[in-house]
Amino acid sequence: MPSRSVTILVPVFNEEEVIELFLETLFTHLAEIEATEFEVLFVDDGSRDASLSIIQNLATRDSRISYLSLSRNFGKERAMIAGLDAVTTDAVIIMDVDLQDPPGLISEMIQEWRNGADDVYAKRRTRHGENWLKRTTAHAYYRILQRTTRIEVQQNTGDFRLLDRKCIDALTLFRESERYTKGMFSWIGFTKKEILFDRDPRAAGRTKWNYGGLINLAIDGITSFTTAPLRVSTVLGILVSLAAFIYLIVIVLRTLLWGSDLQGYPSMMVVILFLGGVQLLSVGVIGEYIGRIFNESKNRPLYLIGQQHRGAPH
Ligand code: UDP
Ligand code: MG
Repeated sequence: MPSRSVTILVPVFNEEEVIELFLETLFTHLAEIEATEFEVLFVDDGSRDASLSIIQNLATRDSRISYLSLSRNFGKERAMIAGLDAVTTDAVIIMDVDLQDPPGLISEMIQEWRNGADDVYAKRRTRHGENWLKRTTAHAYYRILQRTTRIEVQQNTGDFRLLDRKCIDALTLFRESERYTKGMFSWIGFTKKEILFDRDPRAAGRTKWNYGGLINLAIDGITSFTTAPLRVSTVLGILVSLAAFIYLIVIVLRTLLWGSDLQGYPSMMVVILFLGGVQLLSVGVIGEYIGRIFNESKNRPLYLIGQQHRGAPH
């Protein structure tokens, strides 16, 4: 079997507690995999703790370790594209550093890849260590997203996946600045293969997400995945106009048949307020998309690299 090379791509943001443990666990699992050369590429996403110096230290000791350090914190989505741009191997496996993505799955992923899959993604069977609210909101969100688009949305799937060179080349063509990588994975297609796993709580440190960040990611997801909200505004506009038109006919007929009296102040207020609300909502929706056009049209680089070091896979 010819040897093929795989990069383990690991975005890192303030993870000093867990990097060494991660690497140790990773290498014990990698040692069991045959006929594959590995390289670990850390993308330090502007960490403000000792993460970078820990990585630098590890890299001097092991030539399988490479790193990129971004000039500031750009967010995981951009850290991932920075990594993908730098990957030179036949495939990449994207993993979180907090050991929530079990390295034990790597051998199975590589097996599926050898069998011809281009995108082997790990799907969570359970979500340990996440509370009821996060689970239900995540579930509802995926369902809404799926209903608005014809592209299949992968539920309960994170960024933990193996991507063949074909997929890497495809993904690096996506230069949009408000990135929703999860949508891109579906968009590119290719031969997909799913494997199931149980997601554990973080090994150490704290999640970098809060509800504000998740809501932003959710809105980014919808607005970059589909234009359905614009369609909703249109449909709502049509329905409201239709209702208003019917009501108009009713009023005209009533006035013709029974004469006019000065009634209807409450109903008028209701209609005005309702229409005002619908209009504001629609303007907001349009604004979301215009904002995105504005951001894309600036055409800025997605990330800037401060320091880098290349090892070699073996
Ligand atoms: N991460 C990053 N940049 C950020 C936030 C997070 O590179 O701005 C990395 C983080 O170090 C970790 C991964 O992305 O390797 C997932 O982050 P986290 O575990 O906080 O997210 P969760 O698992 O809670 O979704
Ligand atoms: Mg995590």
